[in-house]
Amino acid sequence: MEGTEVLIVGAGLAGLAAGRDLSRAGLSAHILDKSRGVSGRAATRVLELDGKVVRVDHGAQYFTAKNDQLRILIPDLVQLGLVREWTQGFPILNTQGIKSRTAGHPRYICPDGMSTLGKVFLQGLESKDQPLALETHALVTGLYKSESDAGWKVLLEDGRVRAGRVLVLNMPAPQALKLASEFLKPEVRMALEAVRYAPCWAAVLVLEHMPYLDWVGLEIEHPVLAWAALDHTKRAVQDPPVLVLHASAAWSQENLELSPAEALGKMIGAAQELFGDWVGQCRTAMAHRWRYALPTQTHPWPYLAQDDLIFCGDWCVGPRIEGALESGWATAEYLIEYLKP
Ligand SMILES: Cc1cc2nc3c(=O)[nH]c(=O)nc-3n(C[C@H](O)[C@H](O)[C@H](O)COP(=O)(O)OP(=O)(O)OC[C@H]3O[C@@H](n4cnc5c(N)ncnc54)[C@H](O)[C@@H]3O)c2cc1C
Repeated sequence: MEGTEVLIVGAGLAGLAAGRDLSRAGLSAHILDKSRGVSGRAATRVLELDGKVVRVDHGAQYFTAKNDQLRILIPDLVQLGLVREWTQGFPILNTQGIKSRTAGHPRYICPDGMSTLGKVFLQGLESKDQPLALETHALVTGLYKSESDAGWKVLLEDGRVRAGRVLVLNMPAPQALKLASEFLKPEVRMALEAVRYAPCWAAVLVLEHMPYLDWVGLEIEHPVLAWAALDHTKRAVQDPPVLVLHASAAWSQENLELSPAEALGKMIGAAQELFGDWVGQCRTAMAHRWRYALPTQTHPWPYLAQDDLIFCGDWCVGPRIEGALESGWATAEYLIEYLKP
């Protein structure tokens, strides 16, 4: 840690993309994350069923590559078997039944789960890339400005301290606001306060029987449910059938404080009404509460900088995976210039 130039809190895709570019530019980056793995909301849950590992995407479902910087990575990722095109659009289910499909452009997935994306940036794709320095299970609970020398110190939940010349916070804006509150200039505080997120309850259902359906993902116009995906259609191997459900933003907001078991019961009930009783016949099922799932009000710039304190994530420029990566890359570009001797 001694002499770390950039300390990054949050191993989401923005933090990892920034860390990778900083490291390629010869700057030392150290990444901390409270979770046990990387990739944040591009999350994959690993289940063990009858001794077999089953991977399920319960956060981000797929990604698009409209941005040139991401698009040029796709052929290599596909060649390495890390990414593949899943579909070009989704049917929409509403009260009249299934209607037209959404716009036809590639939706990419990772056969080993969406968290592969985070691992790609952690490990690097180029032969000269070294793995980024990462500490997991590292919940940051406080920030300190060093008085003796330039730079930042962060306090971890277990009392450990980490330091860096500059500090990057890669996390949803409300969490960054809470952590950095006492250090913010009024205009930076206002910008963070203006960001809004919608929550999402997600449910994972490992089914008893393979359903007979002709879609892989379905957008739903319904008071409770907004999305259903047959997650096993992403996997290379013959995995058991898995249905992923996402509740609508409005329902998730209204029911945010339900217990996971209560939310799961209500989502299964709604899905049974839409699809049939087979939805309830599960080998195992679980629900996950995403308090900050998708930004609904974003900040117009790709990052927010207050000198040596930088904020980045999908709430900058545009929501979703593409926005998070763009924000991370722009953060690195700013810091490479800022830290130039
Ligand atoms: C249910 C759901 C569905 C989605 N569907 C899609 C989709 O289909 N397509 C798409 O493109 N995008 C989708 N998204 C959005 C996409 O996942 C995000 O835009 C993207 O992953 C955000 O990356 P990020 O780096 O900005 O933040 P995050 O992924 O949120 O990363 C932030 C990281 O910071 C860590 N952290 C936070 N606070 C602390 C702390 N105090 N100390 C240490 N670590 C901390 C967290 O553990 C996390 O790893 C979805 C998201 C959800 C939740």
